Amino acid sequence: MGIMEQDVALRPKTLDEYVGQERLKEKLKVYLQAAKGRREALDHTLLFGPPGLGKTTLSHIIAYEMGVNIKVTSGPAIEKPGDLAAILTNSLEEGDVLFIDEIHRLGRVAEEHLYPAMEDFKLDIVLGQGPAARTIELPLPRFTLIGATTRPGLITAPMRSRFGIIEHLEYYTPQELALGLMRDARLSGYGIAEEAALEIGARSRGTMRIAKRWLRRVRDYAEVAGEKEVSLERAHDALDKLGIDSAGLDERDIKMLEAMIHRFSGGPVGVDTLATALSEDANTIEDVYEPYLIQLGFVKRTPRGRVATAHAYVHLGLPVPFDEYD
Ligand code: ATP
Repeated sequence: MGIMEQDVALRPKTLDEYVGQERLKEKLKVYLQAAKGRREALDHTLLFGPPGLGKTTLSHIIAYEMGVNIKVTSGPAIEKPGDLAAILTNSLEEGDVLFIDEIHRLGRVAEEHLYPAMEDFKLDIVLGQGPAARTIELPLPRFTLIGATTRPGLITAPMRSRFGIIEHLEYYTPQELALGLMRDARLSGYGIAEEAALEIGARSRGTMRIAKRWLRRVRDYAEVAGEKEVSLERAHDALDKLGIDSAGLDERDIKMLEAMIHRFSGGPVGVDTLATALSEDANTIEDVYEPYLIQLGFVKRTPRGRVATAHAYVHLGLPVPFDEYD
């Protein structure tokens, strides 16, 4: 099996196989059951949260639980209204799910065409140009739009108001990540000690995708060492070799904290300034690094920029240069 096929084989199919996100699953179960009982499509759903928490996976599960097909696309792939028309009129059936990843990156014109599609299940198509142009209205099947975004703040108000279900995904606890890892190991036919799975979970920034990636690397180390089961010692050792510290920070997180502390006196520093200093993309900092550092309490957002907290100094083994309660 190739890596993609393997990933698909490990992908949970049902809500019960999907680990964690209990609060969200509980609500979804009700919404799914109610929609099915009424033989209606599920309301349009907006899922937000950092990358790798399983928004795409959850959308596939929703389609599976509703017993419908899912069409997958992304905001940047829909530039022109024509792109949208092609997707909406091509093989979308009653009740189907249309999944739009990175929906905050949808073109503005395409977005405006999406409104009547979401609300009235119709699409206005303009034929011709200039004074001879006319609009025809194309009826659409009742579908469910599931939008995923890492940036709920960039969703426009009119777009947001058209979603009946708006939910965020949370970071996973190490225990939840460990459950996901043990499931993968079981399905792939190898062993892992529970403490090893917990150790990987604790160092995966609350993110399923990262935990699964570290598991694959740790497994490599275990196999090459001729071990049948992934042990806690092996997990420790391999994660250290991969440069992942005890809080799950990698070299780039550490570089960001060090830059904040050493070059900007702990902040406040603006994201763009920080991005330039690190030769990083400001979006990557905002979407990937910062949320987890904030979650850990290492970085705080203030109106004047980002600030490194006392926890960050302590984690890096540096003296805290200010009174914590200032
Ligand atoms: P997102 O869309 O939020 O970026 P995703 O849905 O693409 O995330 P992946 O990052 O691909 O999810 O997740 C990595 C792997 O872990 C995939 O095989 C996915 O099916 C699986 N996975 C994700 N979330 C869970 C979960 N809660 N329980 C079990 N497996 C999960």
